[in-house]
Amino acid sequence: MFVDSHCHLDRVDLSPHQGEFSRLMAATAAAGVTHLLCVSIDLPRYPAMRALVDPYPQVAVSVGVHPNEGSAADPEPTVEDLVRLAADPRNVAIGETGLDYFRSEGDVEWQRARFRTHIAAARACAKPLIIHTREAREDTIRILREEGADQVGGVLHCFTEDWAMAKQGLDLGFYVSFSGIVTFKTAASLREVAAQVPLDRLLIETDSPYLAPVPHRGKSNEPRYVPQVAACIAALRGLPVEELARATSENYFRLFGVERIVCSPASA
Ligand SMILES: [Zn+2]
Repeated sequence: MFVDSHCHLDRVDLSPHQGEFSRLMAATAAAGVTHLLCVSIDLPRYPAMRALVDPYPQVAVSVGVHPNEGSAADPEPTVEDLVRLAADPRNVAIGETGLDYFRSEGDVEWQRARFRTHIAAARACAKPLIIHTREAREDTIRILREEGADQVGGVLHCFTEDWAMAKQGLDLGFYVSFSGIVTFKTAASLREVAAQVPLDRLLIETDSPYLAPVPHRGKSNEPRYVPQVAACIAALRGLPVEELARATSENYFRLFGVERIVCSPASA
């Protein structure tokens, strides 16, 4: 059993599945991926995303606005907006949120304010945070500390930073999640970090439809490729893939308080 702890199911290319979401989900189940977390990146498209996954109890959802989404013209999400949407029983987290200085120019104080709003919402509803961080190490850790994010914890998702940052996140009670990037030829230093994160704080994800792992690199990513991420990290750590899969699944259930829904095997 594998868990994809971070994917954007409403953005996956359905053309390999005859355009049908149900076929994508059947292929996911057939690959042994039993649970998924479908992550929100904006509020205007949130209702459609939520409706799409509704028939699939193995899919949990988060609510949040990605640091690169929206423009100055859009209203910023409020703590109240996020808390209200997170009251949904299918919701298990706030995010994805964080800081991305790579794709933003100029004054990004608005990004920091939005990040603080998400942490306040997570604290208000006692749910973990899904953190995106890129070229913003110091500010990400500083704001997590200033806003008391250690009270709710969460995950540093699609981790691409160094061990020093992983350690700071772990010290705040966060988990660290690796995507298919860990399989890329150029990612040797990231593999060292993935080998070092304690097994009980490790998560795996696809971040579909982005970042397909080797050997699917360049194609639209899908949750059914998460076993490749597991296999890569298991090999690094000298573990059987089943053990890595079991540990990362347990971690997912523990962090997000997800019930183990027993899914019937794919019929299609
Ligand atoms: Zn994402």
